[in-house]
Amino acid sequence: MSNKMLEFVKIGQQTPSKRDAINRKQDFNEIYKDFIHQKAGEQSSRCSQCGVPFCQVHCPLSNNIPDWLKLTAEGRLKEAYELAQSTNNMPEVCGRICPQDRLCEGNCVIEQSGHGTVTIGSVEKYITDNAWEQGWVNPIKIKNEKNQSVGIIGAGPAGLAAAEQLRKLGYQITVYDRYDRTGGLLIYGIPNFKLEKFVVERRTELLKKSGIKFIQNFEVGKNSTLDQLRAKHDVLLIATGVYNAREIDIPGSDLGNVFPAMEFLTASNKKGLGDKVELFDNGTLNAEGKNIVVIGGGDTAMDCVRTSIRQNAKSVKCLYRRDKENMPGSAREVANAEEEGVEFVWLSSPKEFIGINKVEGLNVDKIKLGEPDDSGRRKPEIKKNSQFNIKADIVIKALGFDPENLPKLFDCDDLQVTKWGTLKADFDTMETNLHGVFAAGDIIRGASLVVWAIKDGRDAALSIKKFLENKELQKEEVA
Ligand SMILES: Cc1cc2nc3c(=O)[nH]c(=O)nc-3n(C[C@H](O)[C@H](O)[C@H](O)COP(=O)(O)OP(=O)(O)OC[C@H]3O[C@@H](n4cnc5c(N)ncnc54)[C@H](O)[C@@H]3O)c2cc1C
Ligand code: SF4
Repeated sequence: MSNKMLEFVKIGQQTPSKRDAINRKQDFNEIYKDFIHQKAGEQSSRCSQCGVPFCQVHCPLSNNIPDWLKLTAEGRLKEAYELAQSTNNMPEVCGRICPQDRLCEGNCVIEQSGHGTVTIGSVEKYITDNAWEQGWVNPIKIKNEKNQSVGIIGAGPAGLAAAEQLRKLGYQITVYDRYDRTGGLLIYGIPNFKLEKFVVERRTELLKKSGIKFIQNFEVGKNSTLDQLRAKHDVLLIATGVYNAREIDIPGSDLGNVFPAMEFLTASNKKGLGDKVELFDNGTLNAEGKNIVVIGGGDTAMDCVRTSIRQNAKSVKCLYRRDKENMPGSAREVANAEEEGVEFVWLSSPKEFIGINKVEGLNVDKIKLGEPDDSGRRKPEIKKNSQFNIKADIVIKALGFDPENLPKLFDCDDLQVTKWGTLKADFDTMETNLHGVFAAGDIIRGASLVVWAIKDGRDAALSIKKFLENKELQKEEVA
């Protein structure tokens, strides 16, 4: 233990007084910073610079991980940050919430050889948080603003990444969003304990200071049609995400206190942001002291159970129709939830919500896994006469999301969609079937990951740049 750490323990043993407490907090912050700094250095120097950077190959952004790890190990933190941010618009966000076990870290050669991965995500978070603290992260300064404008629908990670990339090139950017805040699912979906809201807010503030115009509380489909926006801008990018929550059609679905996941998470996030949320304050969307049942096995379900635990629920159960091995959610998230006291009721499927006016419980079927279906996953089959009841004061449905019907919503029948309802786009150019209308993020992939949304936003920005340059050339030729 370092002298500083020993000193800290000694301070901790003294009789507490207000002054001591303040001193301890200051000392703790200082020692903690040193500790994190040392850890980042230690972890970075564990990278063997293996020459076959599988971590980089499995990062959707092809981040130059080995090189920024090397720079961090050498204490060259500014250069490490410059390199990390050159391929990623939000390294501190990805460092916090990428499922690294399935991406970079899961493919680290040291992990593969059984010695535990280099904690790439934590180092990425550290070098970027440090850059913010040091004042190395600054707004974009434009020397010659171009006279072409880009309209972006959706202020989630896909829209924001595209906005930043295009602003760097000097284009005029307007981002429209139906939420009152910027960030999409980063702000109202992903809970604060995974991604602190100040991290999202400082990013979006930076973009505002960079001259990007944000129009909040503006819903395309309600406040304008797609064609009206097309007429306003040289190019449009649609980055609206997927928000159509999948339903469960069983008796009692209309009972009170059965909520979609986003309603529960948004209330909790708004509360965390300091808003007055009536339905939370009056207890309706607050898990405190209640028996909570979450239906679903993905990451959204994990966010709901872990949020319920943090709201001091009496009990939290997660109902999933397959088993642990076949859960779609990240194994790391499931382990975290289990550790925090969530009870998983595997191989079970709700048959009926029970209650008078408000839900009081669920009648549940036991499930066995049958033969693989078309998707290759073993099909859940109901076990006969296996029903049992579970008590519930609140039920949260977290069964996934589908795209909204955009052609209808945008009053634009010509806009083509796939059989899944996602926008049809050419993945090489990110252009939809409408000339000058591009798309990025979940709305073309289906519910996916932040890192993929950023990648799409960056790719779309590159294509939009080419499109606008061509448009300018054509104008010059005509003139
Ligand atoms: C609860 C939850 C937890 C998640 N956790 C993780 C995680 O830990 N790690 C991870 O990598 N990914 C996670 N994801 C997935 C990730 O958040 C998404 O893949 C990502 O945010 C998609 O980015 P996007 O920009 O395409 O869309 P979004 O982030 O959904 O942003 C779309 C924006 O478009 C706006 N919009 C929609 N329609 C309109 C309209 N008609 N007019 C104007 N504006 C409109 C919306 O208000 C929103 O702000 C999670 C998702 C959920 C739901
Ligand atoms: S962006 Fe995600 S996948 Fe890529 S290095 Fe960072 S944490 Fe890993």
